[in-house]
Amino acid sequence: MTSPSQDDRRVVVIGSGPSGAIAARILAERNVPVILLEAGSTHSALGLTLRVAGVTVLNMRRQLRQRTNGVIKTGDPKTELWEDIAAGGLTNHWAGAVPRFSSDDFRDADRAGDAYRWPIGYEDLAPWYDQVEALLHVSGAATDVPQLPAGRVRRVRALAEDWSRVAVAARGLGRSVLPLPYAYESETTLTLSGTRFNAFVRLVKPALRTGRVSVRFDARVERLEWSRWDRRVSHVVYRDTRTGREERLACRAVVVAAGAVNSARLLLGSRSADFPEGLGNTEGVLGRYLHDHPQAKLIVDLDRRMSIHPATYISRASLDRTEPLYAAAAVQWTGTAIRAKSLLGGSPGRMPWIGFNVVGTMAPSRENGVMLDARPCPSNESAGLALHIQRPAESDGALTKTRDEILDVLDRVGAGPRMRLWKIEELGNSIHFAGTCRMHDSPRFGVLDAWSRIHAVPNVMVADSSAFTTGPEKNPALTAMALSARGSDKLARDLRAGYI
Ligand SMILES: Cc1cc2nc3c(=O)[nH]c(=O)nc-3n(C[C@H](O)[C@H](O)[C@H](O)COP(=O)(O)OP(=O)(O)OC[C@H]3O[C@@H](n4cnc5c(N)ncnc54)[C@H](O)[C@@H]3O)c2cc1C
Repeated sequence: MTSPSQDDRRVVVIGSGPSGAIAARILAERNVPVILLEAGSTHSALGLTLRVAGVTVLNMRRQLRQRTNGVIKTGDPKTELWEDIAAGGLTNHWAGAVPRFSSDDFRDADRAGDAYRWPIGYEDLAPWYDQVEALLHVSGAATDVPQLPAGRVRRVRALAEDWSRVAVAARGLGRSVLPLPYAYESETTLTLSGTRFNAFVRLVKPALRTGRVSVRFDARVERLEWSRWDRRVSHVVYRDTRTGREERLACRAVVVAAGAVNSARLLLGSRSADFPEGLGNTEGVLGRYLHDHPQAKLIVDLDRRMSIHPATYISRASLDRTEPLYAAAAVQWTGTAIRAKSLLGGSPGRMPWIGFNVVGTMAPSRENGVMLDARPCPSNESAGLALHIQRPAESDGALTKTRDEILDVLDRVGAGPRMRLWKIEELGNSIHFAGTCRMHDSPRFGVLDAWSRIHAVPNVMVADSSAFTTGPEKNPALTAMALSARGSDKLARDLRAGYI
């Protein structure tokens, strides 16, 4: 049992994906008692991953599923919604690519106008990237390029020789070519989870040893309770999904990290007389500005074999060559299956074809968002969610321009590229939803302040990619974790100082 004094001091963290896990860890390190509420069950993170010198030898993991129950899609009906209600969240499946946002990404948002301006800049995040990267054991390039800072790299990766010539050709198009940074990529590891870095296994489990973190599984949070008198959230209400009982937990502060869709839904459902449209939703922006990374798959046949490891990253084009907030980068396919094929083909590490995920951006729009579905729904855990998102035409333009430039540079280095496949995927396919509780100096454009706290409810922080003001074409988990670590550190300082 927790003593009443601990009840008063504790912070409730909701969700044990990478954003919630790093929050729990940072708070515990700063002597703040934490209860982590996780909707997944005790054994939900189970799996097995064996990697030897950076090659996956054995992998067993949960199945990743699309959520279909109780979701209506009011924008593009083909939008995909993938989630994993499990300890570690989507890190039960992720690939571990961890690029930083760059100064240019923040400048890109600035030039798009007031509504898109982040309340923080790269320099605010850099020390937190450093801290998080140390936990992620990153392998990657050692030198900065304008589109991608090198960061705190544990194992330096150099571009394969044949790609160095592509890098020279791409420079003329304002693009950089370098190895993409990955977490725990080059190490020999045996992990009791479906990936080499599951946030619950790597971050929360060690934090349990501090004695300041406890976890409740099967705890599906349903709402946060606002206290009119104290002017703060005083309780978190959750459903114990094993017993069906509703439970109430007193708290000093809350960190919401249920993922960009579920966090917004939870806050929208936390209504009170003071906040009839959802917690802190004074300007009607909560849930809006949902965005994703429009993504395409590209396969190119070649006249000669090219290296497939380390995975090459062809960055977005420089700001002077792109419209504000529209760009795309490409990530080369690698991994054990392709490496095995290259071995069988008699040229270890080199293939006569290469594949890419071409990952683009969409400018956040007020029209896209997560809403509560007003229509009566069957009573199930995901009832009442309306997802509204549509891909702007400019996104397809940025993807195809990137495809054409990749073919162009491969041609210029004499690789003889012939496009075998080009497929633009449905929205949601990149599993990078963000922006629903965005940071902004003004509550008119974002529900969170510069410390990821709700403007009107300072004892609630939103720690996941919902906080993104814009969505640069980089994989989001590292930046979500850096924002979460930064906000959690500030929360711990404010709790200690008695500001909350
Ligand atoms: C196949 C695949 C590959 C990917 N590769 C990459 C990559 O290389 N790099 C990258 O940056 N990203 C990648 N991603 C995306 C990345 O995994 C997510 O961006 C990241 O996990 C999001 O972290 P999160 O903490 O915000 O949310 P999640 O990981 O979704 O975690 C949310 C947590 O909240 C819990 N939860 C939800 N609702 C409630 C509730 N009501 N009450 C209590 N708990 C709740 C969930 O059970 C879960 O534990 C990939 C995803 C997939 C599926």
